[in-house]
Amino acid sequence: MSYVDEVLELVKEKNASEPLFIQAVTEVFESLKPVIEANEELYRKEAILERITEPERQIMFRVPWVDDKGQVQVNRGFRVQFNSAIGPYKGGLRLDASVNLGMLKFLGFEQVFKNSLTTLPMGGGKGGSDFNPKGKSDREIMAFCQSFMTELYRHIGADTDVPAGDLGTGGREIGYMFGQYKRLRNVYEGVLTGKGLTFGGSLARTEATGYGLLYFTKEMLACNGIDIAGKTAVVSGSGNVAIYAIQKATQMGAKVIACSDRNGWVLDEEGIDYKILKEIKEVKRTSLAEYVNYRPNAKYTAKEAGDKMDHGVWTVKADIALPCGRENTIDLEDAKNLVANGVIAVAEGANMPTNLEATKYFQANGVLFAPGKASNAGGVATSGLEMSQNSERLSWTFEEVDEKLKNIMISIFHAADDAAKKYGMEGNYVAGANIAGFEKVATAMLAQGVC
Ligand code: GLU
Repeated sequence: MSYVDEVLELVKEKNASEPLFIQAVTEVFESLKPVIEANEELYRKEAILERITEPERQIMFRVPWVDDKGQVQVNRGFRVQFNSAIGPYKGGLRLDASVNLGMLKFLGFEQVFKNSLTTLPMGGGKGGSDFNPKGKSDREIMAFCQSFMTELYRHIGADTDVPAGDLGTGGREIGYMFGQYKRLRNVYEGVLTGKGLTFGGSLARTEATGYGLLYFTKEMLACNGIDIAGKTAVVSGSGNVAIYAIQKATQMGAKVIACSDRNGWVLDEEGIDYKILKEIKEVKRTSLAEYVNYRPNAKYTAKEAGDKMDHGVWTVKADIALPCGRENTIDLEDAKNLVANGVIAVAEGANMPTNLEATKYFQANGVLFAPGKASNAGGVATSGLEMSQNSERLSWTFEEVDEKLKNIMISIFHAADDAAKKYGMEGNYVAGANIAGFEKVATAMLAQGVC
């Protein structure tokens, strides 16, 4: 058995109850085969694959807080500090009822490669809680965030581990957590990113993941002789990534005609208005069903019990598909729908939204496929820029940050493209991104000895 297959078996055995983590490792290992096989003896002796799949540290803790009725609630908090070979652990905090250790290990593992691709010095980590922020009052959110940070603060720091937002954690939550960290530590440092602009946040961080996705997509299309202007697109999700992806796609001359949330989806043939989404999702924090009250020509379809998440969006005919929701929301059936409808490109704006079978189907059918660890890296890249600004105690203009983000996304595309070509897999950006991300981390790990 090859070294890669041997370690994959070991990972499956040791993490049998964590299917998302196994899925993420399987995808990366398939891509790494040619790289590892070219130097198998060294990598085996150094146990590089065993080390890279074992988090450096995993922290789990109790998060007690009091709800508005005076009832004590208890959630489980996590931080997975996956790999610090190239910089302090860096990655978001997910707040969602579905959060468990296996999910955060998958996200932390992905983050290691994603952060490596950004060219910035950031290791990989991820954290969060099974706390569900939906329907909670502001006071309850603050009570949870303060309690969460009351344990987390001892494990993080500007040069140790720098958490940020993710699903369920936005500017409001980062603000409450930052306040509590400062109070407990009595230091004012860039320990979290995605902060408010008045206390160390970076301009363009809010827009960065969505904008970055489009900078990447435009470059990928252009390098394949296709102009994004005039194309139609469908987006899943309607949160932070989706909103700014829709804005940037529209600015680039594309027309986004569908998007979704967990309860249903909207079709707007005239083009989704991102400002309305912002109002519904960021100000009112309510359901996408509201969209048709602003745009009567649009059509809302509620998800029925048993319907797959985002499925409706993938039945719409469009040139470009941008999954910006959560993991595993494009399966083989969705991929077949999209291909039958003539999709040209699929670019992931989330972590692993396309399952392995669907990814392979796209690639086998000539669809340009951008994996999330490359095309969704704009958020964390701009977090890296926020860290730089905090370190030098300066803030850059929106244009300066946006320009740097654009250059980073273009360079990520070319790193993935070049690596794929180098190993004879031209156009396979999944393999290219995994290889380019891995090579930098593995080189650093080997140089740092057994640790
Ligand atoms: N949660 C985002 C991601 O998945 C951002 C992480 C960060 O800014 O540290 O990349």
